[in-house]
Amino acid sequence: MKLEALIVGSAAGGGLPQWNCACRLCRLARAGDPSVEPRSEACVAVSADHQHWLLVGASPDLHQQVSENPVLHPAGDGRGSPIFGVLLISADIDGIGGLLVLREQQPLQIFAPRAILQVLEDNSVFGVLDPTIVKRIVVRESQPFDCGFGLTSTLLPMPGKVPLYAEDPLAAEPASGEAYAALVEHEGRSILIAPACAEINQSVRETLGRGDIVLFDGTFFTDHEMIEGGLGKKSSRRMGHVPIEGPDGSLSRLADLPGRRIYFHINNTNPILLNDSPERRRVEGAGFEVAYDGMELRL
Ligand SMILES: [Zn+2]
Repeated sequence: MKLEALIVGSAAGGGLPQWNCACRLCRLARAGDPSVEPRSEACVAVSADHQHWLLVGASPDLHQQVSENPVLHPAGDGRGSPIFGVLLISADIDGIGGLLVLREQQPLQIFAPRAILQVLEDNSVFGVLDPTIVKRIVVRESQPFDCGFGLTSTLLPMPGKVPLYAEDPLAAEPASGEAYAALVEHEGRSILIAPACAEINQSVRETLGRGDIVLFDGTFFTDHEMIEGGLGKKSSRRMGHVPIEGPDGSLSRLADLPGRRIYFHINNTNPILLNDSPERRRVEGAGFEVAYDGMELRL
């Protein structure tokens, strides 16, 4: 059996098109223009046997994502699901919101670091996932753990910030906080999923070097994309995402990374989403791929 990953959602928070956005890309996606494919919020399903699937991240688009991917449909009669667990790597809404889709008395395991489990504990709405049926399993960073069904995962720390809803509104800069990459392995093959990384230092480069395939933070192309587009007041770095472009951007800092590099968690303002854009040609010319919903990866 082989390790496989199915990218069920490839966009950053809001998806493409975003419900309240009429930027150029959202307008094209809404109009069904073939130059840009709609995308849902980031989530990856991983399996070592094609029967049992671990979700990395629980996006608010999960209802649609399960519906659109037959491997995630229940088999046989009655209730059930090939999804046996969820590995949480972010406490942002787009990392945990989909848990609410997974209610309905379905046995599951939630794997997460203590701080993220604490967010679930502190917000009583998540109590809808009955803890006697949905097991919470504390995962310690940098320590491999057996998820079952042939999958081993390791949570690896990434430079990040606290979730937006947990920021101090009076602070000029957000507190640095929990951001993780997930390394998922089976029989020596690995996929590394890193949707949020605020800067690329040597430690990050070493971490990313552990994945045969790396899904990396492709949120923004430039640091000032939201500001220049008149869509927000914060820079890419301020939001906890290293931009693609620039001397410290991921395109140059990860140019020599071995293995397959795929931009993932892509914001609807990012021009790499446009199939024929100069920015798309630039990243592809440098050996990066651009994730799309339904992309299948086999190792
Ligand atoms: Zn938009």
